[in-house]
Amino acid sequence: MLKIAIASGKGGTGKTTIATNLALTLADSGRTVQLLDCDVEEPNCHIFVKPNIEETWPATVLVPKVNQEKCTGCRICADVCEFKAIAVIKGKVLIFQELCHSCGACTLLCPENAISEIPREIGVIEKGKAGNIPFFQGMLNIGELASPPVIREVRKAAGESEVLIIDSPPGTSCPVIEAVKDSDFILLVTEPTPFGLNDLELAVGMARELGIPFAVAINRSDIGNDDVKKYCQKEHIEIFLEIPNDRRIAEAYSRGEMAVRALPEYKKVFDRSWKSIEAVSGKILAGKTA
Ligand code: SF4
Ligand code: SF4
Repeated sequence: MLKIAIASGKGGTGKTTIATNLALTLADSGRTVQLLDCDVEEPNCHIFVKPNIEETWPATVLVPKVNQEKCTGCRICADVCEFKAIAVIKGKVLIFQELCHSCGACTLLCPENAISEIPREIGVIEKGKAGNIPFFQGMLNIGELASPPVIREVRKAAGESEVLIIDSPPGTSCPVIEAVKDSDFILLVTEPTPFGLNDLELAVGMARELGIPFAVAINRSDIGNDDVKKYCQKEHIEIFLEIPNDRRIAEAYSRGEMAVRALPEYKKVFDRSWKSIEAVSGKILAGKTA
């Protein structure tokens, strides 16, 4: 299975547009493809592909629970917790579940075996189908801080197919790493603006650090300046996809249509981009291309 992550150094660059249209292009070309929305703080692939959700289940993490009868108030658990999720006040242990990172250290080191672990719901996983594309998304509950466990659950939920398209969270921090870490290829989406270039540089640093092959997609490629292209040239980074600032794409969405279906020329653009990804990732799949 070829795992392709669509990522960007910042939000609002058109990452989801590219993830969904690429998935649809592949499905229309006869390949089996799954679409994962790992942008769990703001999942929006569903707005584009309108899946039928067939199954929903909670995403949970393990948090400590103290048996006060066994507890001696020794404070070892509070001292070992790097995240200040435990306090011992007047001999009584208080757990701040929202701060807990589920590392398990307190449970392991409690000398009285007074701590057990219980599941705590932090989000929801949904599974469904968008046409013939299996679709998975995670949603972090409002007020929760830790999205990586929900992203992990979405990744785990996926089955087998020729291609897996992962819509990653924006940025370059832990949630993105969780979404892209074992992918075969990353398509870094940016815009030709100074902010776009700055965030692209950070995203390129992340991809290089992870050692995952990558290329760039420039959305709204006819606005701004050519600094992104100059940067890519200087850094020997390939540009696999360019999408102009085409009003007809927005109009298609307002009618509930995907760009590659409403505007056939974009199917060719995505097909070309896919051939480049296949060539670089070294995994050539069966299927028709335009
Ligand atoms: S380490 Fe165990 S015994 Fe010590 S305060 Fe924490 S829960 Fe109580
Ligand atoms: S599991 Fe880890 S993070 Fe959570 S309370 Fe225990 S030591 Fe702290």
